[in-house]
Amino acid sequence: MLGIMMDKQLNIADILEYAAQYNTDAEIVTRQVEGGIHRYDYRSALRRTKQLANALQSLGVEQGDRIATLAWNTYRHFEIYYAVSGMGAVTHTINPRLFAEQIIYIINHAEDKYIFVDLTFVPLLEAIKDHIPVVKGFVVMTDKAHMPTSSLPNLMCYEDLIAPHSEDFAWPEFDEKTAAGLCYTSGTTGHPKGVMYSHRSTVIHAVSACRSSALNLGPLSRVLPVVPMFHVCAWGIPYSSPIAGSSIIFPGAGMDGASLYELIDTEKASALLGVPTVWLGLLNYIESINGNLDSVENVVIGGSAAPRSMMEKFQDVYGVFPIHAWGMTEMSPMGSLCAKTPYLMAADKEARARVQSKQGRAVFGVEMKIVDDQDQALPHDGKTFGKLMVRGPWVASGYYKNDDRSAFRDGWFDTGDVSTIDADGYMQIVDRSKDVIKSGGEWISSIELENHAVGHKAVAEACVVGIAHPKWDERPLLLIVRKPDADCSKEDIIGFLDDKVAKWWIPDDVVFVDSLPHTATGKLLKTEVRAKFERHYLE
Ligand code: AMP
Repeated sequence: MLGIMMDKQLNIADILEYAAQYNTDAEIVTRQVEGGIHRYDYRSALRRTKQLANALQSLGVEQGDRIATLAWNTYRHFEIYYAVSGMGAVTHTINPRLFAEQIIYIINHAEDKYIFVDLTFVPLLEAIKDHIPVVKGFVVMTDKAHMPTSSLPNLMCYEDLIAPHSEDFAWPEFDEKTAAGLCYTSGTTGHPKGVMYSHRSTVIHAVSACRSSALNLGPLSRVLPVVPMFHVCAWGIPYSSPIAGSSIIFPGAGMDGASLYELIDTEKASALLGVPTVWLGLLNYIESINGNLDSVENVVIGGSAAPRSMMEKFQDVYGVFPIHAWGMTEMSPMGSLCAKTPYLMAADKEARARVQSKQGRAVFGVEMKIVDDQDQALPHDGKTFGKLMVRGPWVASGYYKNDDRSAFRDGWFDTGDVSTIDADGYMQIVDRSKDVIKSGGEWISSIELENHAVGHKAVAEACVVGIAHPKWDERPLLLIVRKPDADCSKEDIIGFLDDKVAKWWIPDDVVFVDSLPHTATGKLLKTEVRAKFERHYLE
């Protein structure tokens, strides 16, 4: 028997329609790429979004077409998200930090019809324009006064493009499984792979993300997504904030500590979201000026493991609750997080740190299990490591125009992460499966070693890799970037780790370096480090 309920299909455009009608107190603030602050409300955003949808139609954009962006977090990028997906086309966000060859590959693979580009990235496109013949034209996300002279063919100005068009647009109705957004994952090997979100997956994810047991967004929240809109849709904030009625503060191109601090301070941001490296920059800056984070309630830390020292600084020094979160491009991205619980709020410092160092409990909508090499389920005892598998309505079921189905098995997705899950449901990432160190038949977590190492006062960044060893298969090697003007020796670091991990986990060597290589999404590029130090323990 079927339920007798309406079959209204979920549609991204309905989010903005709702916010424009009911969330009239909220504002969207942007630090503009051209300089200065822009602010308006959801109602104005909807009007301009409809102008843009009409403009896209006049350019011949049809349902299913891929329309790309190379852009920072701004109100114009927000308008593109809604206009493109709302009219039935696909918003394809390109990560400008990828190598030129990867960007060329992605644009051709997605067959992008038009590209919307921020002023910053015009030179990047000029350099590759001869390799992307699929693209019919380029729209610079600015006004006439700031239009650059450029060699890009069929160049348009955003404000000029939308200005002549009507503020009325009837969003078409279509199946909620229709493609809405496309984001490529930047693995460390092989070509990037496209994850194709649907209207259904995006809306359900956004509704789930804003709940108080998740990102805790509401009408009083002033959300600052530092995580870029070109990386998993800024963790869904452009969709979940309008649903929750929250204000959004878009940081534009200013991701450094000083720019972020100024925005947090003047705009009274209450919820921050970003990766650990961004927070390191912010915390260092605040320390240097003796600043505070008085307006901030929560900081969501994800994308890489949040070091204990960072969470303690937010919590104990600045009174900000850190929400350690885990997810991935293939998961829209939200998977699990450490929300406030009665236990956590009453726990002493040690007990709280034990919980918060974990990547948290699955949010409703995501199922998790850990399995062995034969895909057999392993116990949730907080000790047994296994491959982390997930499923749910906002988890990818395959890659776009890609036959590789090795990660999709029996209705589950193999995340490529190795983790434990404890009896209370807290998941803890041990490592990426390709980064875990196999020493004498046992596993060592490179992430745990790194987290301990960055707790040393002289350490700015740490990286641990498994290096081939004549006796033990692999042994850990620790690379350290020291803080400016700080000093420490190998013996200091080894001594510091001594009471924190098992003896056999202690790295055999420590190498001090000036910097470490990162991927386009800010993660340590361990393939490069491993290749460089390949023979370190053999010679
Ligand atoms: P991406 O698809 O680029 O967002 O990368 C997803 C991957 O980042 C995950 O599979 C994890 O390996 C890693 N990751 C994300 N969040 C965390 C976290 N809180 N702790 C450790 N690793 C994380």
